[in-house]
Amino acid sequence: MPGPDPDRLLIEEHNPRFARVCFQAYDWTGNNGNRRKRAMAILRRLRWGTWRCRGCGDELPDYVRADALYCGNKCRKKAARERRAARSAGCCDA
Ligand SMILES: [Zn+2]
Repeated sequence: MPGPDPDRLLIEEHNPRFARVCFQAYDWTGNNGNRRKRAMAILRRLRWGTWRCRGCGDELPDYVRADALYCGNKCRKKAARERRAARSAGCCDA
C-alpha cells in the first residue's frame, strides 16, 4: 500500500498545547474526507504526545502514516532486530 501524499499535509505547530495541522483538499473533487481524518489523527497524537518515534524518540516526520510507530525503516528494523535478539536469548522463559 502506498504511503500518504507527502506534500499535502503540514504540521504548522508542534507544541502539544497549540498543535495545528493543515491539509490541502484533493484537486478537482473537493472531497477531502481521508486527508481530514489523517490530519485529525495526527493532531490527536500531537496533543497526546505520542507523535514520536518508538526507536529514536524524535518527532515523526509529516509524511508518515497517521498510525506510524517509527520514523523510518532504520528505526523499525532496529527495533525488530532487538525483539528478535531478546526472543532468541530466551529472556522471557520461565
Ligand atoms: Zn526513529
